[in-house]
Amino acid sequence: MDRRTLLSTLLAFRVLAASELQTLRGRKRAGAKLELPGGVVITLAGDDETMLVLGDARLDGLDFEVAGRRSAPGVFQVEPIHIPALFLYRDGKRLRVSYWCDVCYIRTWAPGLCWCCRKETLLDPREES
Ligand SMILES: [Zn+2]
Repeated sequence: MDRRTLLSTLLAFRVLAASELQTLRGRKRAGAKLELPGGVVITLAGDDETMLVLGDARLDGLDFEVAGRRSAPGVFQVEPIHIPALFLYRDGKRLRVSYWCDVCYIRTWAPGLCWCCRKETLLDPREES
């Protein structure tokens, strides 16, 4: 790597590090999209489990909020699944998106089958304490 490449790489990392944690709120749209007030549509990116949540059709059209960082023009990188970063608003309350197995009483952060009994988990957003 020559000096010039090194310098531009370092600058790129600096820009990434400088992109601050922020929240975006809008309407959840199908295919990991968020429509902001005013109609701008942002593409959401994240880890595998975050993408499972963003692909959950039960969330489409809801008043939705994500926490993360802008990573490229029009793209927003959502925080990793273990960090509270996916919320919806219902009756004026901000609820963290979560899933619940009503057989095993097991809560998870991404949709899918319960790891214990293999039943499809229920969407069960709840207030963060
Ligand atoms: Zn279960």
